[in-house]
Amino acid sequence: MNSLFEIKNLNMHYPVKDGLMGNLIGYVYALNNVNLNIYENEILGLVGESGSGKSTLGNCILKLLNPTSGEVIFYGDDITKKTKRELKEFRKKAQLIFQNPYMSLDPRMKIYDILKEPFIINKIKDKQKTDETIKKIIKLIGMDKEVLSRYPHEFSGGQRQRIAIARAIILNPKFIVADEPVSALDVSIQAQIVNLLLKLKQELNLTMLFISHDLSIVKYISDRVAVMYLGEIVEIAEKEELFNNHKHPYTEALLNAVPVIKEDKTKKIILSGDIPSPQNPPKGCKFHTRCPYVMEKCKTKEPDFYEISNDHKVRCFLCEK
Ligand code: SF4
Repeated sequence: MNSLFEIKNLNMHYPVKDGLMGNLIGYVYALNNVNLNIYENEILGLVGESGSGKSTLGNCILKLLNPTSGEVIFYGDDITKKTKRELKEFRKKAQLIFQNPYMSLDPRMKIYDILKEPFIINKIKDKQKTDETIKKIIKLIGMDKEVLSRYPHEFSGGQRQRIAIARAIILNPKFIVADEPVSALDVSIQAQIVNLLLKLKQELNLTMLFISHDLSIVKYISDRVAVMYLGEIVEIAEKEELFNNHKHPYTEALLNAVPVIKEDKTKKIILSGDIPSPQNPPKGCKFHTRCPYVMEKCKTKEPDFYEISNDHKVRCFLCEK
């Protein structure tokens, strides 16, 4: 499989400054040494509790945030080194779908103008081609061209998210970061949007990073799944492997939090307490303060990534050979 993105040793450490004097008093360690490949034409699910660094990773890959160090290689180029001007082409190829469709559409603009904006920003002046593309995309997202003369407030949450998706795909990108794209929507609407994203992936050959805390949706939509905890990827595997043969205690705990109809009598890990502050992360394995299998060495030493099988990697001493 070809990688669309190769993310190497990516760190994002936000400086924390003293309110009065502005002195540096520490860092928020939002991303720590993230290494990850995103393959062409896959949907990679990214899961973890809030505060685990999922959105920060998505924003760093799109260079909406400047990572502290590391590389994000896209078609052989490290986009972290690119200037604003050099990023213009990249921005056409890599887009973001936001969580909240009520915030992401300008309420003063008609839908036509919202969809036309990316063409204006990119100085694409062919009006006929612009209009043809807008009509084609509106049809692709399952709406009628009549909507183009209306305003965002005239639509439901699900319809607005369709329009936000249309805006994200209008310049035919290769890659989409979908950051909790259905969590602000009614449960009844969520499946429609998830199915739309699957259809777009097929028809437009899209690659997607699908960020969510909802494991049942991630299981439905993803090809592979990465699990994040306190700014680190702790487990990554092909979807079926991750759901059926997960190895990291944190993945197990996340899966145990998903309601199931049939009661399972086996012992379960239940996550207790909150995720520790990324400003003061625990030493050693970052999950050791909540892990029921914690060993002495977990408190001082960081586990490596251990390979379980092809493309299934786990950061836990229990998987040491
Ligand atoms: Fe638990 Fe130790 Fe594995 Fe960390 S390395 S998840 S503390 S067993």
